Amino acid sequence: MQRRFYFDANATEPLRPEARAATLAALDALGNPSSIHGEGRAARRLLEDAREAIAARFGGAPRNLVFTAGGTEADALAIHGLAGGGRVLRGATEHPAVIAAAGPQADIIPVDPQGVVRLEALEAMLAEGAALVSVMLANNETGTVQPVAEISRLCRAAGVAFHVDAVQGAGRLPTSLAEIGADAISLSGHKLGGPPGAGALLLTRDAADRLMPLMLGGGQERGRRGGTHALPAIAGFAAAARAATAEDAASLAPLRDAIERAAVACGAVVIAGGAARLPNTTCLMLPGCRAEAQVIALDLAGLAVSAGSACSSGKVARSHVLEAMSLGAGAGETIRVSLPWNATGEHVSVFAEAYRSMAERMGRRAA
Ligand code: PLP
Repeated sequence: MQRRFYFDANATEPLRPEARAATLAALDALGNPSSIHGEGRAARRLLEDAREAIAARFGGAPRNLVFTAGGTEADALAIHGLAGGGRVLRGATEHPAVIAAAGPQADIIPVDPQGVVRLEALEAMLAEGAALVSVMLANNETGTVQPVAEISRLCRAAGVAFHVDAVQGAGRLPTSLAEIGADAISLSGHKLGGPPGAGALLLTRDAADRLMPLMLGGGQERGRRGGTHALPAIAGFAAAARAATAEDAASLAPLRDAIERAAVACGAVVIAGGAARLPNTTCLMLPGCRAEAQVIALDLAGLAVSAGSACSSGKVARSHVLEAMSLGAGAGETIRVSLPWNATGEHVSVFAEAYRSMAERMGRRAA
């Protein structure tokens, strides 16, 4: 049987053993955390332990953390719940979850060719007034890290709320609500090595107190998000949050750099190579070679990579991220390689060989 190698961590990380154990243990917890009997109280303890661990890990207070079903819901809750229908400014390269929640009426903050938000443009936009700014910590396609602390200063000076989609940066970069100076950050369990099905919005006290809920129901999460908690996914999320450290993620950078050297030797161009980036991510353009064909060729060789935006519907759409970075036709010739937390040197050698053979077959020669 063919051995498979996974290079699509930004779509979802492999489950961490700690997260698997915590999830399985919570599956056996009988009670509903909202019930007052002993079983309910035991489930509530699990829930509150998870809340404390995640809030502490990401620089906030447990009472100001709202559990959601994932990053998409956390983004929607932040934008609808904090902007209150007012003017939203969002980065040009945001995830579709933010783009959809902000809506077509939102104003778009332009980025430079490395995908970094143009601060002078944001400052001018803020001068016209806004209710909320939403900019991601790190981009899912290119890994570009945004200057969120500077953006926070501009928002503070203008008296505008600031939301950070930290779904890709959390667990890979030092990530703290307090240190960023944001009003709210979005988190997603499965991007940290937890199971899918749980995420969170972590807010400052002030933002938590004025958040308007999206989903009403049984009063869970202090009335900020109705619905029975997905306790096994939440317990796994907390275990993954404890295990995923920026120090460990930083050790992926040399592997990523070696992958880039191998690809560049075959004629590839590293997109956003001049920006501060996630340590596990590279975005590689191979001129003249369609991204879909590259993904298929690598898949046949046993490697899982993705093209453009991580194609939620299974088909590859044109990447708005690469278009915003003025990449032109190159956007259709670019693949994303994102190393999982458990990648090893074998990922590098396997990638180098498969990429070289693919590039040769596609008519490109090693430099
Ligand atoms: N935000 C970013 C930057 C992402 O990369 C993703 C998922 O790819 C999301 C939000 C959505 O998160 P989830 O899959 O947990 O809904």
